[in-house]
This record gives sequence, C-alpha cells and structure tokens, in this order.
Amino acid sequence: MRELIAPQAMHTDRSASYPRDALQALGQAGLLGLISNPTVGGLGHGLPEAVQVVERIAQDCPCTAMVLTMHYCGTAYIEPLGPLAVRQAIAAGEHITTLAVSETATRSHIWAMTSEAAAQSDGRVLISGEKSMITSAGQADSYVWTTRAMQGQGNTLWLLNAKDAGFSVPRPFDGLGLRGNYSAPISAQQVPTSLASRLGEDGQAEPLKAQYLMPYFATLIATTSIGLMQGILRRAIAHITASRFAESGSALADLPTIRAYLAKAQLKAEQARLLRDDTVAAVLAARADKGMRLLQVKAAAAEAALEVSDTAMRICGGAAFRKELGIERLFRDARAACVMAPTSDVLFDKIGTLLCDSPTS
Ligand SMILES: Cc1cc2nc3c(=O)[nH]c(=O)nc-3n(C[C@H](O)[C@H](O)[C@H](O)COP(=O)(O)OP(=O)(O)OC[C@H]3O[C@@H](n4cnc5c(N)ncnc54)[C@H](O)[C@@H]3O)c2cc1C
Repeated sequence: MRELIAPQAMHTDRSASYPRDALQALGQAGLLGLISNPTVGGLGHGLPEAVQVVERIAQDCPCTAMVLTMHYCGTAYIEPLGPLAVRQAIAAGEHITTLAVSETATRSHIWAMTSEAAAQSDGRVLISGEKSMITSAGQADSYVWTTRAMQGQGNTLWLLNAKDAGFSVPRPFDGLGLRGNYSAPISAQQVPTSLASRLGEDGQAEPLKAQYLMPYFATLIATTSIGLMQGILRRAIAHITASRFAESGSALADLPTIRAYLAKAQLKAEQARLLRDDTVAAVLAARADKGMRLLQVKAAAAEAALEVSDTAMRICGGAAFRKELGIERLFRDARAACVMAPTSDVLFDKIGTLLCDSPTS
C-alpha cells in the first residue's frame, strides 16, 4: 500500500492508466483471492475482510479500490457458480474479473437488459449487446455479463472470456474521476460461448444477484466512498493544521468556522461508516432488516462522500485546487458512486416505496 498503491495514485489519475502494478501486487499478496475458498487456493475470507481491504486502499487510490470492488463482486458469483479453472486462477491472483451490467440502451436501469444470448443448432450460444461503462473494460480477464433470459422473463448471467473474438471497446474511458478505471463501453457482437459458461439457470439473474452479489456490491461500493472520505479528511487536516497566516501566526485550523466544517464532515463520514458496519453485521446475522440496510448503505455513503469532499475543497481553499494535495483528485473520484447503478436516486425511490408500503416498520 505505502510502497506502490499510494505513490502511484497521482500518476494513475493523471495518465488515466490502469493500475496494473497495484493489481499484480495485490495478487501476489493473495488479496485477489481474498474471498476465494481455500479448496481452490484462496484465503477463504468474506465480506468483513473485503471491507477492510477496500477501505484501506480507497483512502489513497479510490480507482484501485473500485477495480478491486468489481473484481470481488464478480468473484462473489464465480465462487458458488463458476468453473474450477477460473476460481483457481482468481485465487492464484492471476485473473481479474468484473461486472458487465449497465447498457447503452437502458442506461442506469440495470434491471432492463437488451443484451441477448442466442442458442445455435450446433450447441453454441452467441452473446450480443452494448454495455455502457464497465470498470476494467478491455483489461479484465473475464466479464460477468448479464443478458435477457434466453426464454421467458428475467435476466441471465454468463461468465465470458474477455479475450474472446467479438468483444471490442469502442472508445477509451477519459473520465472526470476514477480515471484509471477503464470504465469504457464494451460491444459484444455474436461472441461465441456455450451453456457451460452460464452462471445459474436461465432467467435467474435477479434472485442470484440478491443471494450472492448484493451483500458485496452495496457494501463495497459504499466502502470505496467511506475510505475516500477518510483519505480526503486526513489530507484536509494535514493542510489546515500546517497552513498559517503570516500576520498573526495562526493556522487555518485555528478558525472556529473551519473547525466546525471539519467536525460536521467527519460526523457525516463516521455516520456512513457506522451504517456500513451495521450493514455487514445485518448480512452476517441474516437479520430481518438486511434488505433495507443494503439499499441504504450505498446511497448514504455515496451522498456523504459528495458533501465531505465538497467541504474538504472549501476548508482547504485555493490550495485544494492544486494536484499535489490530492484533495481535488479525491473530490473528482467522489462523484462516481452516486451515479453508479443503482443510483442514489433509484435507491431513494426504492427506500421510500418500502417505507410507504409498510409505514409502521
Ligand atoms: C466510474 C464508473 C464506473 C462504472 N463501472 C461499472 C461497471 O463496472 N459495471 C457496470 O455494469 N456499470 C458500471 N458503471 C455504470 C453505472 O452503473 C451506471 O449505469 C451509469 O453511471 C449510469 O449513467 P447514465 O448516464 O446511463 O445515467 P442515466 O440513467 O442517464 O441517469 C441520469 C440521472 O437520472 C437519474 N435516474 C435515472 N433513472 C431514474 C429513476 N428510475 N428514478 C430516479 N432517478 C433516475 C439518475 O439517478 C441520474 O441522476 C460505472 C459508472 C461509472 C461512473
């Protein structure tokens, strides 16, 4: 972390380069296989440990943290449903995966797929579709790709080899934040596969998502925001305590207004972290409020990160505009989580609907 990921974070952002060295180091440390079962060579940990790893990385490089988050999300499907060889490669730190869900046609409405899987008479299945913004596009070894069901209602999950003919990345990712993410579109033009690469049954993507993915997805995306808030506040505190006015000798941190802004921002960040910790506890104990917590946690942390990063920019003044403080980078990175599907607005609507459907709970 200190030797590689933190020092390279500014370069990753400036050059929009994929954090390949960081991922290689994480692989060598066993952390790409953190949640893989020991029977395939993994470390055999789960959500609480994944949270710790993502939180620490996000303090210095939210971009690497998000790539790792999507890798853990893909692994959450592949471990129970995927083939042995891929599970072993992930555990060995030699395979990066990601989730390919969002589509150009249906935007952030990730329940409405237009991607298709067409069965051929020779036993092959051809996958076609246009994904809009996929972390690690063209860089990952595999995509956990969602299509419409082959027959009937619902969606279907596939584990596709990212190097297969028919995949292309039509344009590179040149984003505001998380710039090294390679969150680019992916086009699939009749990518040949077979029923063996299907994860679960046809039309079962939604229940599989609820069972395997959501605990990781909601909690870890929230955790990238939580780590980011810790990182930006650490940098802000270093700046306001060190920066002085020559005429009085007092520091920025001696101003009560600045201290109050800082305190409120830290409170927001802590509230998000405590909600995240309670969400992990709800998942582990299979508590009745687990579903509500999983809806709340991403929205709460993503929205808090918008506010906290705004405050860090404000209290550090014009100095925060300069790249060397690292504050403007984290400010830009903080904009992503609230528009990553399910977006905060969609989550607010779902939470509000649930509250109105059962007003006494
Ligand atoms: C950095 C980054 C990484 C990403 N990585 C991945 C990835 O790895 N895999 C993946 O599948 N996707 C990924 N995405 C895509 C992401 O999940 C969303 O699909 C995408 O950001 C939505 O953008 P859009 O322009 O299509 O939004 P739009 O759907 O056009 O939304 C625009 C606005 O309308 C609001 N809105 C839309 N629908 C509703 C509604 N029903 N109710 C209320 N408000 C609504 C939204 O909240 C938003 O504010 C990534 C996105 C980003 C920014």
